[in-house]
Amino acid sequence: MNEPVYLDHNATTPVAAPVVEAMLDCLRHVSGNPSSAHQPGRRAAALVAESRDSVAALIGAQAAEIIFTGCATEANNLALLGVAAARPGRRHLIISAVEHPAVLEPARQLERQGWALTVVPVDSSGRVAPAEVAAALRPDTALVSIMHANNEVGTLQPIAAIAAVTRAHGVLLHTDAAQSAGKIPVDVAALGVDLLTIAGHKFCAPKGIGALYVRTGTPLAAILHGAGQERGLRPGTENVPAIAGLGAAARLARERLPEAGRSLREPRDRLHRLLAAEIPGLALNGHPGERLPNTLHVSFPGVTGRELLEAVSADVAAAVGSACHSGQDTVSGVLAAMGCDAARARGAVRLSTGWDTTGPDIERAAQALIAAWQKACRPPAAAGHPAD
Ligand code: PLP
Repeated sequence: MNEPVYLDHNATTPVAAPVVEAMLDCLRHVSGNPSSAHQPGRRAAALVAESRDSVAALIGAQAAEIIFTGCATEANNLALLGVAAARPGRRHLIISAVEHPAVLEPARQLERQGWALTVVPVDSSGRVAPAEVAAALRPDTALVSIMHANNEVGTLQPIAAIAAVTRAHGVLLHTDAAQSAGKIPVDVAALGVDLLTIAGHKFCAPKGIGALYVRTGTPLAAILHGAGQERGLRPGTENVPAIAGLGAAARLARERLPEAGRSLREPRDRLHRLLAAEIPGLALNGHPGERLPNTLHVSFPGVTGRELLEAVSADVAAAVGSACHSGQDTVSGVLAAMGCDAARARGAVRLSTGWDTTGPDIERAAQALIAAWQKACRPPAAAGHPAD
């Protein structure tokens, strides 16, 4: 039987073939410890350096500004807790109301340690107004952390405008770019950020590898303590095969970013058109334009997203809200922050395309979703008439 169409690329992506090749080559031929002075060690160190160059090039950074981490969660923790530890005297942090738990939870941890935390609101499309950040700043603000792209609805934040505010006040800015890096152009200079998080498995590298960009001169303390790897900021022997995979994924992303419109946005928009044509009242969540090119977050009227996805599970693999929160019919915190009512939030489904999503995939997914919605919302005798 055919596998279901995979439309959950915001949860994770399949590992791309060139990434698998790079990792297998490393596993087969590069066995040294990058810290060792001998030839096998130097080979491993050279591979790590090559990957660092590739990741830096993807985001317009210097190689020395890239710290490899075990995942995006760890990069976010290093950014928040590491800046907090390095800025004595400052005890205030600002985040947005739609952050991933990998930012929210370290922020809450700082709050438990006596820090003041301001959570700035978002509008109905999920956007933060730079003026809200400006209004929240205090003389003792150490860091502002606002995500680049939201994992659920895909809304992009006006990071460059927020950076103009934080810079004017000498406050550091971190952005969690786990969802945007590799899907849209991400340039640290254009964004004006001091710290930026990357997640390998969101752009075709394996799970369990991430990176933190740290602008030269940014005060940051280690949160793990050990040997001196990654400039002492992330001690522990490097995961060389995963780093090789991340480097290959970064090179691949740079090559195909110009194709994102055709490969990600067109299938996404076609799916939206097909669904909207047959489902009166289908509502788009998130910003209509300032949004990741692969993300379609829609609310189906009269059903819950969970029921709908269960009904189409043989044909479509997608998510209600975000993968991290699935398992319950509770309203997503992101949709609640956007002021979405409970019925609309319960009908929400996140459909996220990937580089390998094809036209036939979109047809099949649309047909399955439309048929399941019609079955759930129309009594059989009324088939062919609008749902009441
Ligand atoms: N930040 C965002 C925006 C995410 O979407 C995710 C994963 O879903 C993470 C951080 C955490 O990534 P990981 O689970 O790889 O640490």
